Amino acid sequence: MIINASNDEPKKIGIMGGTFNPVHHGHLVTAQEALDQFGLDEVIFIPTGDPPHKIEDLLAHAEDRYLMTVIATSSNSSFFVYRVEIDRKGKSYTIDTVKELRKLFGSGSELYFITGADAILEILTWKNTREIVTLAKFIAATRPGYDLSKIKELKTTLFDSEDEADRRIFIMEIPALAISSTDIRQRIKIGRPVNYLVPEGVNNYILKHGLYK
Ligand code: ATP
Ligand code: MG
Repeated sequence: MIINASNDEPKKIGIMGGTFNPVHHGHLVTAQEALDQFGLDEVIFIPTGDPPHKIEDLLAHAEDRYLMTVIATSSNSSFFVYRVEIDRKGKSYTIDTVKELRKLFGSGSELYFITGADAILEILTWKNTREIVTLAKFIAATRPGYDLSKIKELKTTLFDSEDEADRRIFIMEIPALAISSTDIRQRIKIGRPVNYLVPEGVNNYILKHGLYK
């Protein structure tokens, strides 16, 4: 799928990376809220590729996760899906994806990496963390059950001044959403409904292809 990339004029781009196994309304509300609160031009969803060795039993194939993400985002003219990590051979590093987007959208554009509060804490374990924070800003969506003090700690570790940290890492309040892909997979496994947790088209896709049984 072609993303809406042109470097004619600088844009504000949201990046939403994830396994999307499957994509759910928590992801969509978060992306929509970032679009609105930060005045972004678009949000690009980037599903991860298949790991070289299957680690998790209930991990749907990259192509299924990609298609479900396309289905879930298709009605929103500001949402796009990018297959760069799915098509990349070997292990994918976030830094490579961010660099790729920098090239696509030009140096005048601003990249905002949108993550849940849980995911931003993992950033500390990422490769090239310090380089990533110079290439993209971060929006951390607060998710029920997560303690903001850890994010504040992370900000002081990564930046020299509080000012600089506040210009690069933002906290975004979103309506409390306890939806997670883990819970959705567990529900499907034991035959409980997931409608209203995922878009209707995603639910239909899961049923049609017998995913997460
Ligand atoms: P899993 O339970 O398998 O880890 P997940 O629901 O956390 O799945 P991911 O694909 O791992 O979904 O998440 C992609 C991104 O979306 C991450 O940055 C994650 O923090 C964020 N996210 C996931 N669920 C929510 C939610 N309900 N509200 C806000 N952000 C969320
Ligand atoms: Mg997760």
